[in-house]
Amino acid sequence: MFPNLTVIQHPLIRHKVTLLRDRRTATRDFKALVNEIAMLMAYEATKDLPLEPVEVETPLEMTDGAQVAGKKLALVPILRAGLGMVDAMLELMPSAEVWHIGLYRDERSLKPVEYYNKLPDAATVQVCLILDPMLATGGSSSATVDILKHWGAARIKQVSLIAAPEGVATLSAAHPDVDIHVGAVDRALNERGYIVPGLGDAGDRQFGTFAGPSSEPGHAPGDETAEVVRRLQRNLVGDD
Ligand code: URA
Repeated sequence: MFPNLTVIQHPLIRHKVTLLRDRRTATRDFKALVNEIAMLMAYEATKDLPLEPVEVETPLEMTDGAQVAGKKLALVPILRAGLGMVDAMLELMPSAEVWHIGLYRDERSLKPVEYYNKLPDAATVQVCLILDPMLATGGSSSATVDILKHWGAARIKQVSLIAAPEGVATLSAAHPDVDIHVGAVDRALNERGYIVPGLGDAGDRQFGTFAGPSSEPGHAPGDETAEVVRRLQRNLVGDD
């Protein structure tokens, strides 16, 4: 249904995502798991990076080798939950740049609002990886892609641990050229904008901030959040 979507079926990712979902997984373990899964996903998300040949001298002789061609790679974590995926990616790609774009999700409309932007003046990299553990409505990701494209990014990929079908549909419709790599696609968004079965709030679970139901996206029952979710669900089945 979505040619740009890759669900990574690696057994280690499936195992670790299951541990992430478990409500009993403590903050410290949760953070470690996000880190480990991000590292495994980096492997998949970068598998088509172009290479160029280089010569390398071993202690014994010269031989042919390869290096990643072209300009640098950028990591764009969606604040704040995406921050937990950065270190793992940097371990594999130490020369990657990390750029910050701050968007918050308006609690009522679920629409992303930009409050911080630290991109350099010109696009200085070839590939941008947007990092967000949860691809929920797809609103923040689509807005981030808009900003990155406007700024001149050549190639953009989304890397998420868990996606909702609604989020994949929204991002794919807005940006069919963006590859989406996820560890799982869950059943749906609930009326509060949470992915179900999901894992809860990825930010709260990583940073140990459990402020209760009023901190949840679109928490008030009967508010506009439920209507936004219904609209996304109608779009998904194509009767809107
Ligand atoms: N953000 C989260 O952290 N969890 C969800 O289920 C949806 C959005």
